[in-house]
Amino acid sequence: MNLEPSQVCPFCAETIKVRAKVCPRCRQWLSRRSLRHPMVMGLLMLVFYFAFVWIGVSGLGKILDPGPRYAEVPGALQVLDSRMNWLDSPNGPQIYVTGILTNQSPVAWKAIEFECRSFDTNGAMVDVGNAAFMWTIQAHDDLAFRVRVTPVRPATDYDSLKLLVSAARNARTKL
Ligand SMILES: [Zn+2]
Repeated sequence: MNLEPSQVCPFCAETIKVRAKVCPRCRQWLSRRSLRHPMVMGLLMLVFYFAFVWIGVSGLGKILDPGPRYAEVPGALQVLDSRMNWLDSPNGPQIYVTGILTNQSPVAWKAIEFECRSFDTNGAMVDVGNAAFMWTIQAHDDLAFRVRVTPVRPATDYDSLKLLVSAARNARTKL
């Protein structure tokens, strides 16, 4: 007669020895400390799964948007020598601004947005316009450009103009 204390396997309900670490009938691991216990195994799988998802998502983000962003490189793009030209079109007078954009950073930029501030003879700001172009300016390079601004006030109100780069995107960004 077997006098060894017994227990019931929680997986298959077979009566087995208390000291058993593995159920001899269904082969389940019974010690919670064992890595091969189904509950421990399940938790580990869950941890690994989320770790892989997290690495995958952050890696993809780095590929799509490797940085740096334009805001992280202050003064990277400067407008040199901009000129205001008036042109009469069927839609009324238009201002064409030509100028040279210079890139003083080691990063190539694209989707450059300008803010165009117009001033009267007293130096008061009379109008603001926005313009953008999709070209790319390479690292440490210059680019001549022309942007069009549609004036909303009489031509005599426009005395001078200041062009600022308000935004740009890293040319390596794929989004
Ligand atoms: Zn069992």
